[in-house]
Amino acid sequence: SLLEKFERYPLTYGKTPIEHLPRLTEALGGKVEIYAKRDDCNSGLAMGGNKLRKLEYIVPDALASGADTLVSIGGVQSNHTRMVAATAAKIGMKCVVVQEKWVPHFDAVYDRVGNILMTRLMGAESRLVDDGFDIGIRESWENAMQSVRDAGGKPYGIPAGASVHKYGALGYIGFAEEVAEQEKELGFAFEYIVVCVVTGSTQAGMIVGFKAQGRADRVIGIDASGTVAQTRAQVTEIARNAAELVDLGQEITEEDVVINADYAYPAYGVPSEETNEAIRLAARTEAMMTDPVYEGKSMQGLIDLTRNGFFPEGSRVLYAHLGGAPALNGYSYYYKEG
Ligand code: PLP
Repeated sequence: SLLEKFERYPLTYGKTPIEHLPRLTEALGGKVEIYAKRDDCNSGLAMGGNKLRKLEYIVPDALASGADTLVSIGGVQSNHTRMVAATAAKIGMKCVVVQEKWVPHFDAVYDRVGNILMTRLMGAESRLVDDGFDIGIRESWENAMQSVRDAGGKPYGIPAGASVHKYGALGYIGFAEEVAEQEKELGFAFEYIVVCVVTGSTQAGMIVGFKAQGRADRVIGIDASGTVAQTRAQVTEIARNAAELVDLGQEITEEDVVINADYAYPAYGVPSEETNEAIRLAARTEAMMTDPVYEGKSMQGLIDLTRNGFFPEGSRVLYAHLGGAPALNGYSYYYKEG
């Protein structure tokens, strides 16, 4: 394993299941076999999700730093800040999260239900601010760090999506190694992996992990940021840094970073009619819940790419389900008729 020298603090149950999706496969024409790796079911901590795989490699550093407060940032319905709040609760730290207006969308209960509700229940201090969407390091985050210091505390900062962090990509290198082990048990290998990408360390980790297996370019990132140039640059940089950190011994090239920008419209956090149709199809065929911000868009991409013949007949495609269903509560107006 590329990860042997790194300390991991367990926050998840362990290997996540790989599930065949026969009814979705059939609904998409039956020529491409669809499977899902259920990282949305990876933990008992506040409904889990992809950030916990990342945080498992960040927590040892936070504990070693002597910090007493985790500080992070995301949108109002951020899954990431929910997961940081859960981690803080679980390891006995305080938590301050800055929640920005990343989404130009107003459901009456948007700032009270789903992710932010659980974040508050777990005791995190949630600060709502007016800044718009940006995956980079923000002034509001620096301010939150300083406010913890001013109050006599010791903050440990975790950037948006736990992505631009030295150890942010390690968890999804582990995902790639886990897939290889599971493929041995299954007796076949997946031709493609489809994954949602926004802040980048999920796909970046997969790229490094699958590069070691000679198939980084089989990871198809589906952009949900709507700012794909920035996301692509961030994925590439995180992957290159992580490759060095784990002594991969190979360069990450431009060809290794495959990101499709076709499904992010109309904007980050806003579902198109096609996104909502994808959410309904996954729910009606497999009872698999996806959300309008992230997995609904990657599900839309999976569906469209399958229907338009992107995957050769007979391919087995692994859809990485990264979580996010709690945000559905903030979008109830879209689904009054189902
Ligand atoms: N899916 C869900 C549910 C998420 O919360 C996120 C976080 O941004 C993503 C996908 C995208 O992952 P990343 O930010 O690592 O690119």
